[in-house]
Amino acid sequence: MFIDTHSHIYAEEFDNDRQEVIQGALTANVRQIILPDIDSTTRQAMLSLAQTHPDIMYPTLGIHPTSINESYKTEIQLLEKRLDQETIYGIGECGIDLYWDKTFYKEQIIVFEWQLNIAREMDLPIIIHSRDSLVEIFTILKRQHYNMKGILHCFPGTEEDARRAIDLGFLLGIGGVVTFKKSSMAEVVKKVGVEYLVLETDSPYLAPVPYRGKRNESSYIPCIATKIAEILGVDTKKVEEITTNNAMNLFNLHVSRANRS
Ligand SMILES: [Zn+2]
Repeated sequence: MFIDTHSHIYAEEFDNDRQEVIQGALTANVRQIILPDIDSTTRQAMLSLAQTHPDIMYPTLGIHPTSINESYKTEIQLLEKRLDQETIYGIGECGIDLYWDKTFYKEQIIVFEWQLNIAREMDLPIIIHSRDSLVEIFTILKRQHYNMKGILHCFPGTEEDARRAIDLGFLLGIGGVVTFKKSSMAEVVKKVGVEYLVLETDSPYLAPVPYRGKRNESSYIPCIATKIAEILGVDTKKVEEITTNNAMNLFNLHVSRANRS
């Protein structure tokens, strides 16, 4: 069984065929899907989907860095309300994004640190989004003086960065990018091995080869596993077992939903 640790299948890109996409994932043996939150505009769709598919979909709560603007305080309030009401499996996705827009850099830091504190208080893993911001992310994590647990999603760094992330207690989220021809990620995977990896799609974005450029979906997870296996010269089965185990331990998926709430 595979786990997709990062899918926005609740997004409107799937409004016309979501059930078929879910069926496709199950057929491809991708049986559990983590749903990282983005912001208040898509949150209800995400939580409703998780409610109707309790054994497949596992939601988190958080505010994406690209959703942060002058009204970030309202976003925080809306999220706070949900934190008391929902069964969730992590915090995020959150982090820093300096690629799209630097206008609200300070606010991005405030909201990211706020979410790190919540993850710590609730003892939940955190899903971190980092784009052109790995140095900043490491600085903030270090400032927290605390061993966090979580995923550096769509891991954007070098081998050295990877080791640093692992030392801080993080797993590396590896997705479609590793299958791209010019990706440096293959080299990083080769150096660090499979032990600290989890698989992810980031659906609907970043589809792996041979689907590159198309809408991404969880049924493509085995393509990513096969590529990692090829890079490391091991069986795909081994990649499947280790990454699934990593995801289950991180998100505590062994405990059934009924026993949580
Ligand atoms: Zn995402």
